[in-house]
Formats: sequence, structure tokens, C-alpha cells
Amino acid sequence: MEKATVTIPGDTIGASYHLDVLRFSGNDRNAPKAYLQAALHANELPGVAALHYLIPMLRKAEAEGRLPGEITIVPKANPIGGAQYLFHEHAGRFSLASRINFNRDFPVPGAGGSRARVAMDAPVAAEKRLKSLLLDLAEGHDIVLDLHCDDEGLSYLYVPAPLWPHMRDLAACLRSGGVIVWGEASDAAFEEAALLQIADIHDSTADWPHKAISTVELRGRADVAPETAAHDAEGLYRFLVARGVVRDPMVPAPGDWKGVAEPIENVEMMRAPASGTLLYHVRPGDVVTAGDRLVTIVTAPGEEGGTVEVTAPQDGLILTRRVHRVTSLGDDLLKLVGSRRSADATSGTLEA
Ligand SMILES: [Zn+2]
Repeated sequence: MEKATVTIPGDTIGASYHLDVLRFSGNDRNAPKAYLQAALHANELPGVAALHYLIPMLRKAEAEGRLPGEITIVPKANPIGGAQYLFHEHAGRFSLASRINFNRDFPVPGAGGSRARVAMDAPVAAEKRLKSLLLDLAEGHDIVLDLHCDDEGLSYLYVPAPLWPHMRDLAACLRSGGVIVWGEASDAAFEEAALLQIADIHDSTADWPHKAISTVELRGRADVAPETAAHDAEGLYRFLVARGVVRDPMVPAPGDWKGVAEPIENVEMMRAPASGTLLYHVRPGDVVTAGDRLVTIVTAPGEEGGTVEVTAPQDGLILTRRVHRVTSLGDDLLKLVGSRRSADATSGTLEA
């Protein structure tokens, strides 16, 4: 394994950032290549913890000559977000400079000159140069996994439609609690840009069964623990073995996966109809029926009429819920995956 550190000049006087890139060269040029990154949303650490356990497994495989595929790993993909502390709170989702979500606004191939990639010495904001750099690093890999997490949630996957159901093996390896399949995205998340980098989404000749691209949501932000990290590392390792990136005769095949896989339009993104204190009646993994009470928002504590109830618009699985217990009007509350299209379905990603 080789480690390189890229310096990203900052936008302010005296500031610069450092991005570590780990590379395993592989010993078979024809083997599939894998790229993994974590903490693009810099406050989402389950992926970093999983890589902490996965990397030694890969180093062992390399030392034993069992690593045919090239692997590139960026364990902390967002040093700009990593450095954003505000009043002792870490703010890793949005850029404080531009207010743009760190997982949006990637330069999308084919989207015209305005979304072109930029070089590290280009006179544009550091976050734009970082996004171009990450796509450069991911280019040429057959497998691209972007490790994220939700607020509180099951382990689940976002998978582009052309790659489903070929990617059931990843869901099986990670024992995913659900899969959200997306078709037409328009928010230029890393996953979308990486997909378009491999092939046009409408290209019927693309070798989709041998590709894998996913935003991997490894539960919730507080689910950073030795047990879950080791579990996720083993799952990722099993997947890399299944796809031929790593060789390990001791690892069994992924097996089948029988979970909830639905198009993104079937996700009910429940939003708060009032501000107040959140009393959740459900947690991720619960199965609900239409009309079930999901959340009580306390608007006037103890008073008659001092609550607003949020109920399930259709039967489904509770995939996630927010980690905070205060809400503003219109803020996201939870994701419910149903079997029919949501009345307010949007394409693309679900939250800001
Ligand atoms: Zn994220």
C-alpha cells in the first residue's frame, strides 16, 4: 500500500488542506478496480471507522499476494468540511463559504462547460477543486463506493437504476436494511457524477453487471463503534472478494438478498407541519401501516390542542429519522419507504 497526500490550497490567507490517498496497486491488470471514500459529509464517520478495519484486511491480502485488483481509498474525503467548527459544534454537511451541500454540485460529465472539472491550481473555490479531485481519483474504477450515513437509520444503499438488481450482492454483503433505486437524478451528487463518468446512464451497451456505484448509508451518525465498524468492514471485504478485487477462499459467496428495494419516488420524506419538540413513535426498522402515528410535535406543552400529529401516508418501512428532537416548520422528520409513489415524490436526492 502506498500513501500520497494531496495539498489543497485554501481560499483564505494561510489556509490549506490535506487529502490522504491510499493505493493498492493489485497484481492483475485485468481484475476489477475499486474506489472507496468516506466522510464526504465530514460529520458522517461510520465509513471512516469501517475503513479503519478494512484497510488492514487489504494490507494482509496484499502481503499474501491475494490482491489482484487495484484499490484506491480516500478515508477522509472532505478536509474542508472536517475543519469546520462553529461554536464547538462540527458542521460537516454544508460548506460555510458557499452554503452548498458538500455532496451536491459535482462537475457532471456531459452537462456542458459550466460543470467542467477544474485543476487544483484553478482560481476557483477550494470546494470545487476538491470535488474535481475526488472524481479524478475515482475515474477508471469499476466499483465506486461513497460511504455516508443518515441521522439515525438502517444500513441502506442508494443504487442507480441501470445497476439494479446487479448490485444485490452489495446489499447481501452489508446486510442492508433497504435499497433505494434512483433513475433520473439532477442534483449532481458524487454518485451521479461517478456514474456518468463510467458510462452514459442510457447506454444499453454499458457493462453494468460488472460495475458497482453506490452511496452507502451506514446507519446513523452516532453508530460509530468497534462492532458496527468491524461488521461493515467484513461486508465491504466480502463484496470485494465477490467481485474479484480481492482473493480469499475463506470468504463465502454473498448469497441472496431479500430486502425492501424501491424506486426513490416511493420514499415518503415526512416534513414537519409545525415547529416544536419531537416525540417519535417509530424508529428505523419499524413497519407501519397507513394512518399510524409517526411523530407527535409538541407545540404548546401540556395544553389542550398543544400537539400536531404526523401519520403514515401509506404502508411501509421506517428507514431513517432525524437525530435532533427540535424541529422547525418544513424540516425533514423521517423517511418511510412505501410500495407506491409518494404524493409529493421528487426525483433525485431527498434532502437538502
Ligand atoms: Zn451523507
